[in-house]
Amino acid sequence: EGGAKVIKEGTLTVCTHLPYKPFQFPQGGETVGFDVDMMDLVAKKLDLEQEIFDTPFEGIQSGESLNTGKCDIAAAGMTITDERKRVIDFSDPYFDATQALLVKSDASYSSLEDLSGKTIGVQEGTTGEQYAKDNAPDDVEVRSFEDLALLCAAVKTGQIDAGINDNGVLYDYVKENPDTAVATEFDTGEQYGFAVKKDGNDGLLEVTNKVIADAKSDGTYDEIYKKWFGD
Ligand code: GLN
Repeated sequence: EGGAKVIKEGTLTVCTHLPYKPFQFPQGGETVGFDVDMMDLVAKKLDLEQEIFDTPFEGIQSGESLNTGKCDIAAAGMTITDERKRVIDFSDPYFDATQALLVKSDASYSSLEDLSGKTIGVQEGTTGEQYAKDNAPDDVEVRSFEDLALLCAAVKTGQIDAGINDNGVLYDYVKENPDTAVATEFDTGEQYGFAVKKDGNDGLLEVTNKVIADAKSDGTYDEIYKKWFGD
């Protein structure tokens, strides 16, 4: 279909970074989630089988994974940014997000200023890491974690005072961990995109954009949304 190229015959190789629940996470020996369902639609359209390749987020957003041919497409709850657009090609936006603040539910922090002198956790290579570096008071220690699960666990166990990450994943976390809470959102106005190699796979990008548009107009997108986020 439409000149989409893949690195392995019959397979759509998808780079992601686990766990990023509910976008991609392990469950019952499989990787499942919102992005996984969206990529299944793309794979189906191309008559391919989705194969997920778990790799650090830093290499996904820097273009390393895509541009060295480790995968055909990245689906990683990844925000479209101008900096990233220089090194990878993004699909149309498929999800809105904003940075948010995770705290223990009995904590009284509701802004970055309240965390003066404290420690905030972020995830390596993410827009949340950048947001904390740009906006936290000078006396805040910003500590980087390799993945979302480590970051959230550090907040829950009190190793750090707060964590910054995307709202969707944090609201999902607090549902299952009522001793934590989302204290505020920072209104960073982000949008997620899937991404392919820079100037390297317009065919795959076109199919992906068509799948996003069709899913939004035929109700499939809403079904997938409800499945992972509820009503
Ligand atoms: N949306 C954030 C970013 O793109 C976080 C993505 C992630 O950690 N998977 O930087």
